[in-house]
Amino acid sequence: MKTVYLDNAATTPLREEVLVAMLESARDNFGNPSSTHSIGRSAKGAIENSRKNIAKNIGCNAQEIVFTASATEATNWILRNSVTQLKVKHIITSRIEHHATLYTVQQLEREFGIEVSYVAILKDGSIDYTHLSQLLSESKNTLVSLMHINNETGVITDIEKVARLTKQVNALFHCDTVQSVGKLELNLAEFPIDFIVASAHKFHGPKGVGFAYIKKGILLRALLFGGEQEKGLRAGTEAVHQIVGMAKALELSYANLASDKEHILGIKNYCWEKIRETFIDAKCNGENTFYTILNIVLPLSESKTAMLLFNLDMKGIAVSRGSACQSGSVKPSHVLSEFLSEQDLLKPSLRISFSHENTKEEIDLFIEALKSV
Ligand code: PLP
Repeated sequence: MKTVYLDNAATTPLREEVLVAMLESARDNFGNPSSTHSIGRSAKGAIENSRKNIAKNIGCNAQEIVFTASATEATNWILRNSVTQLKVKHIITSRIEHHATLYTVQQLEREFGIEVSYVAILKDGSIDYTHLSQLLSESKNTLVSLMHINNETGVITDIEKVARLTKQVNALFHCDTVQSVGKLELNLAEFPIDFIVASAHKFHGPKGVGFAYIKKGILLRALLFGGEQEKGLRAGTEAVHQIVGMAKALELSYANLASDKEHILGIKNYCWEKIRETFIDAKCNGENTFYTILNIVLPLSESKTAMLLFNLDMKGIAVSRGSACQSGSVKPSHVLSEFLSEQDLLKPSLRISFSHENTKEEIDLFIEALKSV
């Protein structure tokens, strides 16, 4: 049976060239990067070249990049340190953030008694910028944590606008850019953002590696104590081949950005057209969404809803309901619950997410499978 992978917001397959770069690195850069001999220095060199390469691709300085094991780790570190080191007393976020942000903020609220405000979500799935301005105007010692591209709906936040608003009141801005790094030009030198986080497996790199961007001049305390790795900020021997793989994946993502984007957008539009031909009452969840994600609500009965993902899986189709963590569960997603009507929440919503590897033939197979469930 041919399988069709339409769950690229959950994770993406490795590019072949990334796999080759990782294998070569695992073989050739096996030294401990902290060792002072040439074999160690060669591994250290591979890390530093990767850091420079990543920085060049997102318009920042290499010293502003700290490697982590995941975006979740980077977000936990940044938010916790903002409270403990940077004296943040108020976090403004939204209820449609990834749980890496939401649960960390809730934990900090419990532990340190900080104030937490949630920006209102509009009917199109976007954040209410007027409400954000109001929240900021009454606030001191504040950090704003808002994601760039929502991983469930693909709704885009205007982060340049958020950055401007936060800087007017000297607030800090942390942005979860997990779904946009590698898929959209970013020039961090151009706008005042303090922290971003990214994860290699979302842009055809390996799992278990990501990075934090910490704007120059912001001093955080170590995430892990021990050796001097990552300038003492994150102790532990570096995963050299993972880091090399991440840098290669990002380089290839940006080298192919224009053509990949055009291809993916064509596939997304084709998919939506076919869905509308098949289910006249299908609706899109969220407006003006990012080119990689399509979230739809289907006019199917409750009995079909519960088994939909399972039945699609039986036919070789990999899609998600809500976010990956909730796949297979019938609990409505915490994101869709914020802006869909009660009625639409009872119907099945599917997140279909694309990569440059998808084809129209795969979309035809997906539509055939949908028709038969
Ligand atoms: N933020 C967003 C928007 C995501 O989509 C994900 C992954 O699902 C994460 C954070 C967590 O990333 P990681 O898998 O690196 O922990």
